[in-house]
Amino acid sequence: MQKELFNVVMFCATQYDCRQQFLCKYLWPELLSSYYEYNSCDNCQKKNKENPQLTNASSEILEMLEVVEALTQNSLIEISPDDVIDVFSRSNTNKIRKNKYNKLTLQRESREVKLYEERSPTILVPKETARLALNDLVYKGLVKQEIRLQKSKIIQYLSCNIVMVGISENVKQQVEKMCWEYWVHS
Ligand SMILES: [Zn+2]
Repeated sequence: MQKELFNVVMFCATQYDCRQQFLCKYLWPELLSSYYEYNSCDNCQKKNKENPQLTNASSEILEMLEVVEALTQNSLIEISPDDVIDVFSRSNTNKIRKNKYNKLTLQRESREVKLYEERSPTILVPKETARLALNDLVYKGLVKQEIRLQKSKIIQYLSCNIVMVGISENVKQQVEKMCWEYWVHS
């Protein structure tokens, strides 16, 4: 069920991947080899117009994993996917300042690094692309998140929260084995 939900999220979030190809892959995987791009969906048109380049984002994927780890490790409050994207993108919102996420330090090869003093991402931008990458990380099992349903005490009403849980073990080795190419519009 969660995997299907993510497929829907990915379908909506992709910017340059052909939607027809995406649907074919999902509905008729056996037909994929005979498939060709039709160039008629909105994403294909956007791709033709903006001419993005397929770019390897492994290093920034590792940094996103560091952000998830650092935010979830010692936090007493629930971390949302938006928090991860905001911190990864070095946003400076009220919530970031209030929770002092802009003071976040990462452990990198036995030295402490202040994230907000580091260079901001250049590949996984804008935030939609970073969000796509975070969804990818969840989909591939490297980041764990939970969908929590909450029932209001006052009225019959269910709300849904996505909460970041943490990262899996040996993520570094797993990242190296996988493909992390994204369309980047320069
Ligand atoms: Zn298309």
